[in-house]
Amino acid sequence: MNKKLYISTYGCQMNVYDSARMADLMSPLGYSLTNKPADADMAILNTCHIREKASEKTFSELGRLRNLRRDKKSRDEGDMIIAVAGCVAQAEGAEIMKRAPYVDMVFGPQSYHHLPEMVAQATRGVGHILETEFPVEPKFDHLPEEAIDKNLSAFLTVQEGCDKFCAFCVVPYTRGAEFSRPVAAIIDEAKRMVAAGTREITLLGQNVNAYHGEGADGKSVSLARLIKELAEVEGLDRLRYTTSHPLEMSEDLCSAHRDIDILMPYLHLPVQAGSDRILAAMNRRHTADEYRRIIDKLRHYRPDLALSGDFIVGFPGETDQEFEDTLQLVRDVEYAQAYSFKYSPRPGTPAAALDGEMIDEAVKSERLARLQALLNEQQLAYNRSFVGKEIDVLLEREGKREGQLVGRSPYMQSVFVPSPSHRIGNIATVIVREGNANSLRGELKPGSVADAA
Ligand code: SAM
Ligand code: SF4
Repeated sequence: MNKKLYISTYGCQMNVYDSARMADLMSPLGYSLTNKPADADMAILNTCHIREKASEKTFSELGRLRNLRRDKKSRDEGDMIIAVAGCVAQAEGAEIMKRAPYVDMVFGPQSYHHLPEMVAQATRGVGHILETEFPVEPKFDHLPEEAIDKNLSAFLTVQEGCDKFCAFCVVPYTRGAEFSRPVAAIIDEAKRMVAAGTREITLLGQNVNAYHGEGADGKSVSLARLIKELAEVEGLDRLRYTTSHPLEMSEDLCSAHRDIDILMPYLHLPVQAGSDRILAAMNRRHTADEYRRIIDKLRHYRPDLALSGDFIVGFPGETDQEFEDTLQLVRDVEYAQAYSFKYSPRPGTPAAALDGEMIDEAVKSERLARLQALLNEQQLAYNRSFVGKEIDVLLEREGKREGQLVGRSPYMQSVFVPSPSHRIGNIATVIVREGNANSLRGELKPGSVADAA
């Protein structure tokens, strides 16, 4: 029987990857994806716990699903299984069961390979299911072969969890200890992805450059080495990796940006703050100057490297001067793009206990606005610097406007070009005509892409 599965995904790319794998697991059970929750026979919320706002959304969205289930039943269209997955499920499983007793199942990011059994139990009316242990068997060994991302630009999880314990962050508690997948399993998955049409792979990990998976000889392999091996996969045109920690930017990884053609000149390297005292209080274990030196080294190997980062403003105790230090670091580095957030205390993390030092919401908002103004200015200047240049763009999908395609530049910018849709899937040379805040516009260089459909 054809059943409908609705998945709502919050948070990071790892959740996007996990949601797609859940859909793959449910497909043999007769479930196909719908984007209409009202029609769903099963609805999964794949949640994010990283900041309070993201986490709060779980309960409002659950209330909405409960109403949809009631309406569906009253239309005599059957029941709906309601499930909560992801990091809120991991951190607040019991609380969800208490506050939303109508939820059928709650499972953490390391347990979703048990989904078919859990659905069978829920269908038999076994009662509520709570799976938030970190199972001994890694879930990757239990995913079906066809559970791969088949997009033109696709994700491949190589590492999960984190042992860094930054003072503000829930990830080590929700995703568990660092775990790296073996090289052979990754190469095998990459080959299957390429055979299914993928041209660009982004290697994912909460701490991806701490990757240390087992190689063919049983010895531990670094991310740089893994990238070198992946670069040999025939038909793969582009590689990226995210998210990295400055402490793990080893010499071989920095030089890989010079040596490996298909490794794209873009790096997301969060720094969080520019003050050494705040960096120490955050337990980041490096200084602002050490970060500057890593950037210098990367640019030495790859002068055109586009840099991105994450920033937190208003960490407990952050003074005006310490915030100015963050602005100075941003001026020194010059980012191509970046993400910035107001500090959000997360239960159970060391920083949340710094009660007396919490920064006023209004101060945080003002600092965030100043930081974002500077970052936006840098991003616009960066994008404008491409006007008149030629760049290679992987044409990924149709744009909102008729006759328009969207793709990514090597530097991660979205690029819009007028083009018929049969060119999707090509890497084309684009002459850039316009650099805007969030994207580039241009036209295809004549002859740069084969016209045969
Ligand atoms: N592992 C990565 C790293 O080391 O930067 C990223 C982890 S997290 C999913 C993404 C970003 O969320 C972090 O880089 C940080 O800027 C932000 N973040 C994490 N915890 C936060 C908190 N409690 N309040 C505000 N922002 C937070
Ligand atoms: Fe969180 Fe820090 Fe680990 Fe990144 S490195 S996931 S910010 S604890």
